[in-house]
Amino acid sequence: MTVSDQTQACDIAIIGGGAAGVLTAIGVLRGASGALRLAIVEPQLPLGRGVAYATRHPEHLLNVPAGKMSGFPDRPDDFLDYLVAQDAFPGVERDALAQAFVPRRHYAAYLRQRLQEAVEASPAQLDVRAARVVSLEKQADGIVLQLDSGQPLLAASVALCTGNALRPLPARGAGAVPPGKRIEAWDFDAVQDIAATADVAIVGSGLSMADSVVSLTATGHRGQVHVLSRHALLPLPHAKGPAADYDPEPLLAMNLRQRVRALRRHAAEAAPRGIPWQNVMERIRPLGQALWQSLSFDDQRRFLRHVVRYWDVHRHRIAAPVHAQLTELRRQGRLHLHRGRLETAIAEGACVHLGALDPGRQPFQIDAHCVINATGVEMRAQAMRNPLLQQMLGSGAARPGPHGIGIDSAADGCLLDADGIAEPRVQVVGSLRIGRLWESLAVPELRGQAQQAARSLLGVVA
Ligand SMILES: Cc1cc2nc3c(=O)[nH]c(=O)nc-3n(C[C@H](O)[C@H](O)[C@H](O)COP(=O)(O)OP(=O)(O)OC[C@H]3O[C@@H](n4cnc5c(N)ncnc54)[C@H](O)[C@@H]3O)c2cc1C
Repeated sequence: MTVSDQTQACDIAIIGGGAAGVLTAIGVLRGASGALRLAIVEPQLPLGRGVAYATRHPEHLLNVPAGKMSGFPDRPDDFLDYLVAQDAFPGVERDALAQAFVPRRHYAAYLRQRLQEAVEASPAQLDVRAARVVSLEKQADGIVLQLDSGQPLLAASVALCTGNALRPLPARGAGAVPPGKRIEAWDFDAVQDIAATADVAIVGSGLSMADSVVSLTATGHRGQVHVLSRHALLPLPHAKGPAADYDPEPLLAMNLRQRVRALRRHAAEAAPRGIPWQNVMERIRPLGQALWQSLSFDDQRRFLRHVVRYWDVHRHRIAAPVHAQLTELRRQGRLHLHRGRLETAIAEGACVHLGALDPGRQPFQIDAHCVINATGVEMRAQAMRNPLLQQMLGSGAARPGPHGIGIDSAADGCLLDADGIAEPRVQVVGSLRIGRLWESLAVPELRGQAQQAARSLLGVVA
């Protein structure tokens, strides 16, 4: 594509206006020392919501305590300061608030407020485009983005912040199940609209399943809930207790098997001292990326094949009240956990029949009035149903990350093309970096990446 007269230009373009895009934009606005044109291209406005923070429902809680959700590495209490200044929880002491798992909707509002403040204080100008980027082309005079609104946008540097993609329901026939009976877990309003008496099947047993179940409970749902997943592992709760004090550094020199054994030993030694295993896991949280990068390629593959399910439930924990709700529903006999692999989904009359195979490959069937797809985040670049990423992979502007997950980026966040050559004008931020970093999804990682990306984008423009 050639740059036509219709092409609009800016200095820095950010693709995606979820948490990663907004934090990167704030970094650019704060770092700009003169007039500069910044554009955010995002189809789903208002900004700051993305997938995680788009929910309006108070029962959907952050899975990280408020005190650890600052968007800025140099202001660790910033989210807490925001909540206090808003008087969002009157009567709750600041210390208690720091430990609390607050509704996720506050986070989008927080990001927007900090963005607005950055716009007001910056010499740079922000332009928000309500559009989706469908292609990215590198040219000598800049990066040309084609928007689905029709107009190309030329930028000197670009941040790719396209975030999370939902896995499709992995069943033959799923496409023929009508929308009212096949609901995506991230369509939070559709989950709330499920009839109170409907029997519900949920495919996937992770955090999105937990979101769906608490929504059903909040709307007075009285039907049966069937949860189907390959390993039937439910998310585990956060716990309070003294911090673990072992030295995690030696783990970096161990292979995967040794690390698993060492962590089990640390947990066993901590328990008699009243230290919960959760805090043993917390101790390695700051080393997440280093732990991944110091594993051999083969051990990374073994981890993805054999360990990741167990890692997920121990690492991505839920607030204790949410866990208590799941436990209570199971105790009442209303939430049934099935271990098996989904094979088929067939709508018939008022029902959806799910056909599955148990671990012994014996078939079984779950009948419900609707099915919720809670299979979670798609990590494989080729399978993400994002036309921009498909175009970039197809044209050789990008290549899949290690193990085929995410897209490939250099240590400084620059996009790597199909030949592994770094493009310093394009920064990758967030979950797309998963293959290189593994820990690259949550705010504690995004804030550092966004700051680094902003510096790099400004450097290109300078
Ligand atoms: C249900 C859920 C709950 C979570 N809870 C927490 C939590 O409590 N704490 C925490 O730290 N992390 C949480 N996370 C992790 C979460 O991924 C991050 O905190 C954060 O939301 C990721 O932001 P992001 O901008 O990278 O991605 P996203 O939130 O996915 O945003 C990406 C944005 O890019 C846009 N986009 C995509 N493609 C294009 C395109 N081609 N052109 C233009 N725009 C495009 C999308 O419309 C979207 O708005 C949660 C994740 C999920 C899925």
